[in-house]
Parts: sequence; C-alpha cells; structure tokens
Amino acid sequence: MRALRLIFLGAPGTGKGTQAKRLSDRFGFDALSSGHLLRTEAAAGSEIGRKAEGYMKAGELVPDEVITGVMLAGIAQLPGERAFILDGFPRTLPQAEALDAGLASADRPIDGVLDFQMDDALIIRRITGRRSCNRCGATYNIEFLPPKAADICDECSERLIQRADDREDVVVTRLETYREQTAPLVAYYQERDLLQTVDASGSADEVTAATVAAVESLDRGE
Ligand code: AMP
Repeated sequence: MRALRLIFLGAPGTGKGTQAKRLSDRFGFDALSSGHLLRTEAAAGSEIGRKAEGYMKAGELVPDEVITGVMLAGIAQLPGERAFILDGFPRTLPQAEALDAGLASADRPIDGVLDFQMDDALIIRRITGRRSCNRCGATYNIEFLPPKAADICDECSERLIQRADDREDVVVTRLETYREQTAPLVAYYQERDLLQTVDASGSADEVTAATVAAVESLDRGE
C-alpha cells in the first residue's frame, strides 16, 4: 500500500472516526481527527480549547483560523513518508484551500477523498446512541457497535460518555451546519477528480469493507 494522504468527508455520525481508526490499525495510517483534537484542547483549558468550546457545544463550526493552524501544524509533524487520514478537516472551502496550499508547499498533495453517505434519520439514530472515550477518542454505539463491557472503552478501559453535542437538539444544528458549510466540499473535490463515495449505512464491518475497497482502488491509481 502506498503512503496515501486521505480526507474522510461526510456528515457527523456517518462513522468516519470509526473507519479512520480501523484503517490506521490495519494499514498503519496516521489518523488526525479535528474534533478529538479540539475536545482535548477544551478539556485542557488551552487558549484554542477556550476559543472553540462555545461553538462546539452549540453544534457550530469553530472559526477557520482557530482550526486551520493547528491542523496544518499537526500534519506538518507527521513523518513525510507516512500515510494519513484527516477526519473532520477540512469542513469549509477556506479550510480546503488552506490545506491544499499547505500540502502543495510540502509537496504532499491529497490522493483521495472518501465521502461517507447516510440519510439524516439514520444519522440521528447513530449519533444519539454514540458513546465516546475522552481519553483515546474511540467511539462506540449502544445499538450498532457496543463496547465489550457496558460503558467501558475496549481500548483503554476509560469510562465512556455521551458527548454533550451528541444530544438530539444539537445534532440537528450540526446537520444543518454540515449541509450549509461542508457539503460544498463534495463539488470541490469532485472537480479535482479526488472524490470516492462510500455507502455508510451498513454495519461497521460492511462499511470497513467498502472503505478498504475504495482505498485499495486509490492505491492502484484508479
Ligand atoms: P466532530 O467530532 O468531528 O463531530 O467535531 C465536533 C465539533 O468540533 C464540531 O461540531 C465543530 O464545532 C468542531 N470542529 C471539528 N472539526 C472542525 C473543523 N474542521 N472546522 C470547524 N469546526 C470543527
């Protein structure tokens, strides 16, 4: 497998984080999640965390200038020969443009963008059943992907929580935010011939199979 540089696009709750984690375990990719990064900053009470917190609670995007710098810095720290997956970034056109510019100057352009697709009713069921680990970022679902022991992270034994922004009222705002600000990125990457669609509505294992197939076809240069 080549050292592919990938973006996982798709509405919240479509399983991007779960699939990014599975691919990083399977192929040794580095996965960078902007949401996990911001939650870690918020928990630590850093300047970035304090700037981001209110937006996150409301289900709105944090300003581009707050997230773009930290994500580009995070990418710059990844060893040049390593494959990576960006999960949750970019989420606006200015972020996508800043990412392109940053990667072009490092001669590490994006190889492919996977767009995880699912209808809104299922997204709401998935997100409201989601339980997350604040320590390692792993996510589970009480209905679709339960942890081995109730409410305990399989990976690091931390007690799982329901994220405040995974409650239904905030999820509706997050979906609107996605449609208005992030969905235009589908056309942006389509125009650059980078987009692959993944049906995200099946079981986690089915979606993993579809994700691996998409990544393998990118690897073959298709
Ligand atoms: P996520 O875990 O990806 O659903 O992200 C949780 C929250 O973090 C989002 O609802 C936003 O408030 C914020 N966030 C994550 N990534 C970004 C981004 N690329 N741009 C702006 N806000 C973001």
